[in-house]
Amino acid sequence: MAIRDEDVLPIPNRPMNRLEGTYLSESFKGIGTTLRHFFTSFGQGRTSRTFQYPEVRREQMPVERGGLHAPNFRGVHRLNRDEAGRVKCVACMMCPTICPAKCIHIDAAESPWDDREKYPKKFEIDELRCIFCGMCEEACPVDAIELTTEYDVVGLTRQEMIFDKEKLLSVFDATIGKKPM
Ligand code: SF4
Ligand code: SF4
Repeated sequence: MAIRDEDVLPIPNRPMNRLEGTYLSESFKGIGTTLRHFFTSFGQGRTSRTFQYPEVRREQMPVERGGLHAPNFRGVHRLNRDEAGRVKCVACMMCPTICPAKCIHIDAAESPWDDREKYPKKFEIDELRCIFCGMCEEACPVDAIELTTEYDVVGLTRQEMIFDKEKLLSVFDATIGKKPM
């Protein structure tokens, strides 16, 4: 849909004053930040973020934001199973509809089970296109799709990073102990 001219809100740049135009204060601020990180990253200093990965892995993801308990790390997806071990997804198409990156592709089919009408015959997520916004997880009415805390998923080809249903279910099997539903 084309955007109408009257819907566009122009936001003019504020002109810099003479001091700002020299970029000196911002440059000194940047150098200060660099030096602070340089001196504190040798030990377990307050700002140290350095890990000797992959020998040292970060197992505890950040759960604090602005002093609040806010577990917000979003890693690779998983497709959850129900109590009978079947894929929980009912192919409602909410997640591919809401996904801003358009990286979820589902082929819905008539369900072989009596307790639902449809199931995903094919379910794929392109993990390289995903922006890990978490909207698919929010939209799912049956808690079938979730983002886990797994972050070190790699592949040598683009195709390997398109996770199909079996792979997404295997992520569930591997992570259910770490992140219960
Ligand atoms: S996390 Fe966001 S971008 Fe990634 S699949 Fe879900 S809705 Fe799409
Ligand atoms: S929102 Fe949930 S139930 Fe609907 S298609 Fe996506 S994963 Fe399946």
